[in-house]
Amino acid sequence: QRELAEQARTDPLTGAMNRRAMEEAALRETARSIRHGHPLCAIVIDIDHFKRLNDARGHAAGDRALQELVCLVKSMLRSQDFFARMGGEEFTILLPDSSASAGILIAERVRQAIEALEIPSETVPIKFTVSAGVAQLDPGLGGWEGMLQRADAAMYGAKEHGRNAVATRAPMAAGVDTQSRLKNEAL
Ligand code: GH3
Ligand code: MG
Ligand code: MG
Repeated sequence: QRELAEQARTDPLTGAMNRRAMEEAALRETARSIRHGHPLCAIVIDIDHFKRLNDARGHAAGDRALQELVCLVKSMLRSQDFFARMGGEEFTILLPDSSASAGILIAERVRQAIEALEIPSETVPIKFTVSAGVAQLDPGLGGWEGMLQRADAAMYGAKEHGRNAVATRAPMAAGVDTQSRLKNEAL
């Protein structure tokens, strides 16, 4: 029974948490963050031009890319962090006790590590990049779901900035986008 419960929370392709498991964790962590007054931060990661990768290298290569991304990101996180495949080629990291600035640092490290990743294959190595959006919990801005929406919006901003980038939106600056392309900035 425990095994079945575990399966219901796991993405079978990559072994990462699935969306449902992330939602459970996020609700718990949101409550904990508010109770203790500690920050909570989310990063949304989306693979760039993944359709092209599938088309050029085949669906199996796309699957490998998803698996290697999960393996790499897991190795970069603390034990208390959460990492889920939310669907397709989209992932979410939840960072307890972390502000947006800490989240930006992690997101930028992940972006660089993936940019450097070369997955061996029979021909040329498989390579790809990601775009990421970062947002910090603000209970006045819709709790966990609001944070996820803002991180998602920031991720789309990073796509518009040319992809392979990290972006954020400050919760305080009403309506003002503070997307920043961090790719070449010293952090
Ligand atoms: P963008 O840079 O704007 O994110 O472009 P994109 O091509 O990554 O985004 P789009 O949403 O157009 O395509 C996502 C692709 O992801 C299409 C779909 O076939 C592929 N995909 C979704 N799930 C899987 C999977 O489990 N395995 C593989 N190989 N491909 C998948
Ligand atoms: Mg994509
Ligand atoms: Mg996508």
